[in-house]
Formats: sequence, structure tokens, C-alpha cells
Amino acid sequence: MSLVKEIAKRRTFGIISHPDAGKTTLTEKLLLFGGAIQEAGAVKSNKIKKGATSDFMEIERQRGISVATSVLAFNYRDRKINILDTPGHKDFAEDTFRTLTAVDSVIVVIDVAKGVEEQTEKLVQVCRMRNIPMIVFINKLDREGKDAFDLLDEVEQKLGLKVTPLSFPIGMGFDFQGIYNIWEKNINLFSGDSKKNIEETIAFDDLDNPQLGEIIGSEAADELRENLELVYEVYPDFDKEAYTKGELQPVFFGSALNNFGVRELLDCFIDIAPSPLPKKAEEREVVPTEEGFTGFVFKIHANMDPKHRDRLAFVKIVSGTFERNTPYLHVRHNKKLKFSSPNAFFAEKKEIVDISYAGDIVGLHDTGNFKIGDTLTQGEELHFKGIPSFSPEHFRYINNADPMKSKQLEKGINQLMDEGVAQLFTLELNGRKVIGTVGALQYEVIQYRLEHEYGAKCTYENFPVHKACWVEPEDEKSEEFEEFKRVKQKFLAKDKQGQLVFLADSAFSIQMTQQKYPNVKLHFVSEY
Ligand code: GDP
Repeated sequence: MSLVKEIAKRRTFGIISHPDAGKTTLTEKLLLFGGAIQEAGAVKSNKIKKGATSDFMEIERQRGISVATSVLAFNYRDRKINILDTPGHKDFAEDTFRTLTAVDSVIVVIDVAKGVEEQTEKLVQVCRMRNIPMIVFINKLDREGKDAFDLLDEVEQKLGLKVTPLSFPIGMGFDFQGIYNIWEKNINLFSGDSKKNIEETIAFDDLDNPQLGEIIGSEAADELRENLELVYEVYPDFDKEAYTKGELQPVFFGSALNNFGVRELLDCFIDIAPSPLPKKAEEREVVPTEEGFTGFVFKIHANMDPKHRDRLAFVKIVSGTFERNTPYLHVRHNKKLKFSSPNAFFAEKKEIVDISYAGDIVGLHDTGNFKIGDTLTQGEELHFKGIPSFSPEHFRYINNADPMKSKQLEKGINQLMDEGVAQLFTLELNGRKVIGTVGALQYEVIQYRLEHEYGAKCTYENFPVHKACWVEPEDEKSEEFEEFKRVKQKFLAKDKQGQLVFLADSAFSIQMTQQKYPNVKLHFVSEY
């Protein structure tokens, strides 16, 4: 099959939600439709309960051995669908942000009773910044929840989206009867007890048809007519271009657990969701259908099985085809590398494959060559953009607790930072190392992994920092910048890329610094 056709078949997306909204359940139902798994319960949740480290370790260990859950691929109708796993736990938000650089679209799952929650807000904000096309799925309609219109308002206001419902619920919770599918113009009736069966679908072009009352009862029929009238009045018609540009978000209602409304979501998704999109590199924009292979590393997974220590680097193919045993340029190292066993991902397993196409993810065994954000090409000097670091929330000095193992500690810290577990800052004044994380949980993870994977021991010491600010002087040689560096000496550090960072101890200090040194810009993101 031609490259163009292969690429057009592909849909690579992520599901984002606040923990417990139903991401795992929805993923599982999608895989069932694709025939990729045979029964429910096959998809492992990546959930971490209440920050329990042991729980995290156990999950990481399992996932490390069977990393297949990081990418779940299946075929549905004539499409090849790649779902990229995104951790919902807030301490791993950075991991999710990075994964969002590799998706072409997103499905946002919202709990009908809880509405828009904190984690959803953060993740959607990142998607909005990147204009990623989003579909919203309002889940758990079998339960009592918020009024549909109120929820649509909430989604618009809290998430800053412009929505248009493509389905609408008939009743809710105890009275939930089913869904009117605006996209396909039919009614789906829900029967709570036939959980596994595909529900009854009745085509209904004309809502004025009196038959509607016979099916769902005259009261519900009137209510539905009224609701839909309001929908058509208030919300814009679905417009694929606006959706693709990230300017309009279609909304579906359903119940993932009961497999209700999921097929409708999936059918619409494969119709409207974009096939692999062009991606900007520093040098130029790369189009998926270009013959030459290009791709970038968006995730590195440590293998925690002590027998197989190597890591797996996840590469999103941006253009062309990735072929086994073919030398590709590792741009940062300016070195050609060949991969004899690239992994492609399927529902529950990974397999060595000879060829993968733009839009796909390949997993490459790595002994320490890769860093998140690295670009691979057929020879061109390209640098893909768009994996910025955000300022961490927590900062601690890291100390060596076993002087005999300082080499191991150094190697361990470097490799863990390459994986993106946390951010490392080296103080300009004395070379001490500071680790910044999004959540306190990461410190335990790092300590555990340093010990178990590298045989090194560490302790931490508090370092009160409010925020890391990346420093951009207007003129590196100016007196103002020299003074800034002299006065702030104690608070200056270099990040892993060697960029200068100001570790401010309070919001006030940032404000004062900005006033005093107006020509030294402070950024809260590493890419500006
Ligand atoms: P995740 O944290 O977003 O991956 O959420 P899960 O898929 O693990 O779901 C969280 C809980 O909500 C589980 O107990 C699910 O069984 C339940 N759940 C998911 N979908 C539905 C639904 O449609 N209706 C009801 N009543 N419960 C659901």
C-alpha cells in the first residue's frame, strides 16, 4: 500500500481525564470494539492510589516488564488506531504533557456528576496551547449527575472551549433511557441489564414523528424535542475544519462501563479525527507524507526487570517510514544508529516489526543514547520543537549517602533526568545538585530507583524555592545582566541543557527582580 494511504488510515490520540472519570474503562471498551481484546478487565489501570509509593513501584515494575500499555494499537473498520497512555495522577503530569506532543488529537473524559475537575483543566490547557483537536465524552450517564446544559456551560467556561453536542441524553441516572445521536440522527436505547450487548438503534430523522412518544414515552419525547431545539439554537453546527484547528469541540454523552455511547463516539472519531499532522521543527515544518523518515523521542521507559536493564525509547514517527536495520541519524549526537529490533505496539503486546509509518510509535531499545526530545532523521539536521519543561513545584538538594558509589549516583541521576522523571539544576555557586519535581512522590521514586537500578544511595535536604525561572537577558554583556548575576549568585543554577535558571524563593522576589532588572526576562517554561 502506498505511503499516503497508510498514513491516511492512522489515528493517533490520547485520552485525558481527571483520575476516576473513566479513562481506563473507555480505553477498554474501545479495544473491545476493535476486537483487540476479548474481555473486560484486560487493560491495566495506571492509577496510583493516594500517592502510595509501594503502589507506584508495583505498577512501574509491572509496566516496566510489560510496557505494552504505553501504546495500545488496534484496527477498527479500515483505520489503524494508536492510543497513547497518559497518566492521570498529578505527580506525573509532565509525562502526560510530553505524551501530548505525540498525539494528533485527544478525547477528554468528564464525569457527569463531578463535572470539570482540576487535572482535566490543566491537561486541556496544554491541549489548547497546541490547538490539539479535542472530543469531549461525558461519562457515567447511568448515574445521577449534573444537567446536560449546565455541564456544557461548565465545559465552556472552565476549560475555555467552544462546544457543540453531537449526542444528547434522554433522561439521566435512574431515568436514563438512552441517547439521541445528533451526528447519526438516531436513537440508542439503553437497557441497563444487557451490559455486554450492543444496544438497540432506531433511526430517527424526524423528531416530530409521533412514534418517538411511543418509544420513550410522551413526556420524555417532549423534553427531548425541547432540548434539541435549544441545542440547535444555542450551539453552532459541527464544522470539521473548526474542530481540526482546535476551535470547536464536539461533545458525546454515554456510559463507558455499560458500553453505552462508545460505538457512536468511536464511529464519529474515526470520521473526523485527523490523520497524522505536520510538525514544526526549528528548521522547517515536516509533513507526514514526506518520503524521508523523521521522528522524535517523547517518552523513555525504564525497564525495571533486573534481567533486562535496557530502556525503551518511544519514538513518534513524524514522516515517512521507519525501517528495521536501517541507519538513522541521531541528530544531537550526530551519529548514525541502526535498530535491529524496533518494537511496534498492539493491544496488549509489542512485536518486532520491519516497517512502521508516520503516525505510529516505535519502541527502540536504548542503553543511554536517548533523551526526551531527541530527533532521528534519515540524515537531515532537524530539531523538532515542543517539549518544554515547566517550572517544578518542589525542590530539594540531593546528597550522596554512600561515598563509595558517587559514579553510580551520577550516572543514575543523569539517566533518570534523561527519562524526564524530574529536573536537575546545578547551582552556579558551589555545583550542588538540586532536583525539581512536580509531585513529592517522585523523590521516593528516584531514591528507590537509584538504589535498585544503580546501587547508589541518596538523601535529600530541603531547598525552599518558589519557582524556577529561565533567564533570558536582552544583552548578555550588559551591566544590568552582570549585576543581576552578581546579586542573585546564590539563586542561579544551570538546567540539564545548560540554560541559566533563577531559583526564586518567593513570588515577591520574582516581582522585585523583574522590576529591578527589566531587561533580564524571566520565563516559567524552558522554551520561549
Ligand atoms: P480512570 O481513573 O479515569 O482510568 O477511571 P476508571 O476507568 O478506572 O473508572 C473509575 C471508576 O468509575 C471505576 O470504578 C469504573 O468502574 C467506574 N466507571 C467507569 N465508567 C463508568 C460508567 O459509565 N458508569 C458508572 N456508574 N461507573 C463507571
